[in-house]
Amino acid sequence: MTNKKAKLKLGNTSFSYAPAPESTSHVNIKSQYDLFIGGKWQKPSSKKYFTTLNPSTEKEIAKVALADKTDVNKAVMAARMAYETTWSKLSGKERGKYIYRIARLIQERAREFAVIESIDGGKPIRESRDIDVPLAAAHFFYTAGWADKLEYAFPQREVSPLGVAGQIIPWNFPLLMAAWKIAPALATGNTVVLKPAETTPLTALKLAELLQDAELPDGVVNIITGAGETGAHLVNHKDVNKIAFTGSTHVGKLIQSAVVGTSKKTTLELGGKAANIIFEDAPIDQAVEGIINGIYFNQGHVCCAGSRLFIQEPVYDQVIQKLKDRISTLIVGDPLDKNTDIGAINSKEQLKTIKKYIKAGLEEGAEIFQSACSVPKEGFWVKPTLFTGVAQSSKIVQEEIFGPVLTVQSFRTVDEVIQKANNTPYGLSAGIWTDKGSKIFNLTSQMKAGVVWANTYNKFDPASPFGGYKESGFGREGGLQGLAPYVQFN
Ligand code: ADP
Repeated sequence: MTNKKAKLKLGNTSFSYAPAPESTSHVNIKSQYDLFIGGKWQKPSSKKYFTTLNPSTEKEIAKVALADKTDVNKAVMAARMAYETTWSKLSGKERGKYIYRIARLIQERAREFAVIESIDGGKPIRESRDIDVPLAAAHFFYTAGWADKLEYAFPQREVSPLGVAGQIIPWNFPLLMAAWKIAPALATGNTVVLKPAETTPLTALKLAELLQDAELPDGVVNIITGAGETGAHLVNHKDVNKIAFTGSTHVGKLIQSAVVGTSKKTTLELGGKAANIIFEDAPIDQAVEGIINGIYFNQGHVCCAGSRLFIQEPVYDQVIQKLKDRISTLIVGDPLDKNTDIGAINSKEQLKTIKKYIKAGLEEGAEIFQSACSVPKEGFWVKPTLFTGVAQSSKIVQEEIFGPVLTVQSFRTVDEVIQKANNTPYGLSAGIWTDKGSKIFNLTSQMKAGVVWANTYNKFDPASPFGGYKESGFGREGGLQGLAPYVQFN
């Protein structure tokens, strides 16, 4: 599949980019994957396998083992054994060496990871190559540095690991979320059972191969595959000391109620409905690019996506026009083409959800703008979509869509926009575009959001903590704050 229709218009001239597909010759994907338990590939006791699809072609990529309760138990036992006999006995310096080694190996195999991420998840190669994989390596590098410095991370306090961490991750940043979860657990002396999402298991399984090459002691990280039921077995396992979850608010609530009354520690990173706010004094072209990046470049498959745009009235028409012009140039198509801006929607279910919300927006009387681009016949696609004329109470303004769909509202005053931006059950992130530093400080202190970007959007750094307020969850990942949920204070 190529981006045959990648047409751009400048003035009266229109031109197309020649297809620039990333090579796949260096990529090695097995046709079937077993479970990675105790440092070895083990057949599932369920004897069942499920299929992971390429969402841009709907073709099968590989069969993946379905872990049942017995398999989850085996994985937790392997993690416990590794914790008791090896990992908790190693010095921080030794643990750090392994984590550095993992980071270096990810860098060495970055191209392979990037291609697999795009094939399995549908995201453009530009995103997986420039964002997901480098950030995953950076996260391991950063966290490795803390492994032998925990007394500085927690001055005047003595800390010890929790034991076995059960980690459940979603499909939007499969490798990066695995890195966010595994790195701090290992640095602080815990062992891990990780379950990737059922639609994107391949980079986590590739990571398991890399862990073998890094000679990480057997059982320190176990990777088991399956859907919600497998995740629930992990959450309910009696010998798991910590649950780290990233995913939907709905499942987050199920997990929270499952661990009530147990001694398990939890961190939950859940949904979002971020406000991106443009003031009249903002650098408009920069802001428009930031908005596009914030909602469209990853198909809107980002929990911190800037999905609600607020524009101050004097620049409303100007910003809308520039947005429409820019949306019309976005290239939707083959995730492996380096020109692609918007790849495939991750799954048929997610496509259905996004279409349901677009329909709801139209039924509520909002005005829709979509680019005129064509999308491939096979695969799961949504054109970049803009809704104006929405009310604060509109379903598409209130609920998380998780797709390339932006709603736009106008505002007059600072107080009004703060009130509107905070009027959501979520509180993960926000963006502010203005020339005035004082306005930025005023807003950042009043926004109920874990991360607030100013004059930029979707920028991540391993040293910077990430996490939410309200129904976006609790606990932080990244930075020093990301280590604390993996230790107990003695
Ligand atoms: P999304 O809506 O982003 O797909 P989900 O919350 O459904 O997010 O899924 C995120 C992760 O949680 C996936 O790995 C999924 O398999 C897992 N999961 C789904 N249901 C449960 C559950 N009841 N208990 C534990 N994990 C679950």
